[in-house]
Amino acid sequence: MVSIKSEHEIAYMRIANRIVRDCLDMLEEKIKPGMTTKQLDRLAHDFIRKSDAVPSFLGYGGFPASICTSIDEQVVHGIPGERVIREGDIVSVDCGAIYRGYNGDAARTFGIGDIGPEKAQLIQVTKQSFFEGCKVLKDGARLGDLGYAIQSYCEGFGYGVVRALVGHGIGKDMHEDPEVPNYGKVGHGLRLRAGMTIAIEPMINLGTWDVEMLDDGWTIVTKDGKPSAHYENTVLITRDGVEILSL
Ligand code: MG
Ligand code: MG
Repeated sequence: MVSIKSEHEIAYMRIANRIVRDCLDMLEEKIKPGMTTKQLDRLAHDFIRKSDAVPSFLGYGGFPASICTSIDEQVVHGIPGERVIREGDIVSVDCGAIYRGYNGDAARTFGIGDIGPEKAQLIQVTKQSFFEGCKVLKDGARLGDLGYAIQSYCEGFGYGVVRALVGHGIGKDMHEDPEVPNYGKVGHGLRLRAGMTIAIEPMINLGTWDVEMLDDGWTIVTKDGKPSAHYENTVLITRDGVEILSL
């Protein structure tokens, strides 16, 4: 069952998502070579708590931190720890916060210093694919229209679109129905309606789309070891388009 949010619920979701956005903006400013991913996690945790919100990732399914930090070939769900961020890394940061019972969820990939043209383009195309997807969204559009827009844009650059992980509905729960794939066929899938809120999150690989999980039970990495980027926002479907809540 996909829920339609009330104005009252949407108001809380706007606030939750602005907290997440502001947290990611803060991290983008602070992230530097020589820092550990654990230090980033601490900054995010303190920021979310100070904003009168709760870090939704902390304890979710046993996850031990407030953000996910995924470097280079790590796609998503990397656990913050003692790893030191180096010049040339690309660091995907996924962040979630709950405000008055409602969830915000967004992710960005940050390039650290000189990352070279290949990684820079990967980050840019991954981000742009989110906006290509948004162009086709409005009341009555189908999930397949969205997936096709993201997939065809990224595959046009020769990139692999991750299949094993998808976006999701969001509201009182971080993960609600429907599943929101970054691939699909025009005219197929659920019809979206005004008032639905979904997290759209392309995970795009420089090489093939194949991924696997590390022994830590969380970190997803590319099978071919090539870098991957992630970009996510929570959006509200409206009559004529979308309102991006985490921008
Ligand atoms: Mg997320
Ligand atoms: Mg998400």
